[in-house]
Amino acid sequence: MANTGGSRRARAQRRRVKRVAASGSDLTDAEWFAILDAWSVCAYCGAEGVALQRDCVLPISRGGRYTLDNVVPACRSCNASKSNDEVTSWMRRRRLDEPVFLLRWREIVVDLTTAAAESRSQTASAILEAEAMDVPAVDALLVERDDLHGRHS
Ligand SMILES: [Zn+2]
Repeated sequence: MANTGGSRRARAQRRRVKRVAASGSDLTDAEWFAILDAWSVCAYCGAEGVALQRDCVLPISRGGRYTLDNVVPACRSCNASKSNDEVTSWMRRRRLDEPVFLLRWREIVVDLTTAAAESRSQTASAILEAEAMDVPAVDALLVERDDLHGRHS
């Protein structure tokens, strides 16, 4: 049987590999498994026991890259919904727990990058700085959120 169906897919696959390479992909499988292991659930909504995909917190279209400090596991639903959106405004729109995500993400990135011998780009801290997300600011957000939730009941 002649293999006619494979070539188109193979070309698409090659283009994809090229595109990822052009975006500066340097996440190894080992790094991805370390990230998966650290989170073990969808980084955004906390979904458990679902297939988790690599998601760039800072999207490629906004200058993000597939790096240890920019990739988190996301369920298919979050990955599709977030797409090219900026993470904090997307999480607010979806009413996801943004402060908890940012804190956990920073913790995990610090752990993973400390474990890695080389120093990596600083996407996580850049976003946190841009958001002025020091710990008191995140605490304030948590209080604000609790107030909001309190008012709903
Ligand atoms: Zn999710």
